Amino acid sequence: MKIHNFSAGPSILPKEVMKKASDAVLNLNNSGLSLIEISHRSKDFVEIMNRATSLSLELLNLENKGYKALFLQGGASLQFLMTAYNLLNNKAGYLNTGSWSTKAIKEARLFGDVVELASSKDKNFNYIPKGYDINPSLDYVHLTTNNTIFGTQIKTLPKTDVPLIADMSSDIFSKSIDFSKFSLIYAGAQKNMGPSGTTLVIIKEDILGKVNRVIPSMLDYKIHIDKESMFNTPPVFPVYTCMLTLNWLKENGGITAIESKNSKKASLIYNEIDSNELFEGFAATEDRSSMNATFSLRNLKHKETFDKMCQNANISGVNGHRSVGGYRASIYNALDISSVNVLVEVMKELKNKV
Ligand SMILES: *Cc1c(COP(=O)(O)O)cnc(C)c1O
Repeated sequence: MKIHNFSAGPSILPKEVMKKASDAVLNLNNSGLSLIEISHRSKDFVEIMNRATSLSLELLNLENKGYKALFLQGGASLQFLMTAYNLLNNKAGYLNTGSWSTKAIKEARLFGDVVELASSKDKNFNYIPKGYDINPSLDYVHLTTNNTIFGTQIKTLPKTDVPLIADMSSDIFSKSIDFSKFSLIYAGAQKNMGPSGTTLVIIKEDILGKVNRVIPSMLDYKIHIDKESMFNTPPVFPVYTCMLTLNWLKENGGITAIESKNSKKASLIYNEIDSNELFEGFAATEDRSSMNATFSLRNLKHKETFDKMCQNANISGVNGHRSVGGYRASIYNALDISSVNVLVEVMKELKNKV
């Protein structure tokens, strides 16, 4: 039975990745040993880590441009403080576009001055603020490129010479942008890459070494770079699975190919939200996310019927986050367009049932 998995995170991964990851747990590369019972310093695992980091840079088109890729632990949430710990000397600017940005701001305030460049809190974060000023003296500007909970996404980057830092947890590897505009990118694996337990950090080395504070080893990017993500035991299973997903992405035409699939999926769902009078979208049209579509029923009396229909169609994970309500269809890279078609058909069919 095929389940249409719209979960926001942890979320869908390609079936073949699941299969290969499972196989490796039983027997890695025909070694007779499991991926999770061998040394992380073994040749097999060192190769896996190297492949995962080099595929990351290759897919983002950041090879030979002064960037390093790291697979760390602690989730995107640890990056909220680690970025500030390593990079915030005097003052940093944060764009507040939702719950994750708000959390990043809270953590950064422990280490220095933080200015909120703009916020969309006035409308429960249903849009992306634009036209704000950026003081050139800031240490960095922090953005959340895709707001997983509210279903908004930054489409145009602010023009500034201040180093840009981005939380791309839920839209990394989903569309082609000029990633070299960023000095640091981080993303928890469990939205578009792999299982939870590792965080990809892409970092331009020349931004380091500028803060005065002492940095504990586990929080020091420089140490993780020098140790090639093996300062301590890395999360071997999540890293391996990420490597498989990145490999799958590369074999399927990379970011350009997946972007065109993703925009077809997004158009399908948003067209239905706009044309079906029973539903309404949450996010401002021009800021809509191509990864998480948020919408609700105009009349809650149809909720029971719609939920039942979704269940019967094997649609899973479409409930909205508690701070928004309604529904959220997460349409990450691994979700096939056929699943979006099923959801759209159910939305259409609801009109015949009410
Ligand atoms: C899920 C998510 C996070 C939190 O990630 P953890 O790995 O659970 O810490 C942070 N930012 C964004 C944009 C997310 O979608």
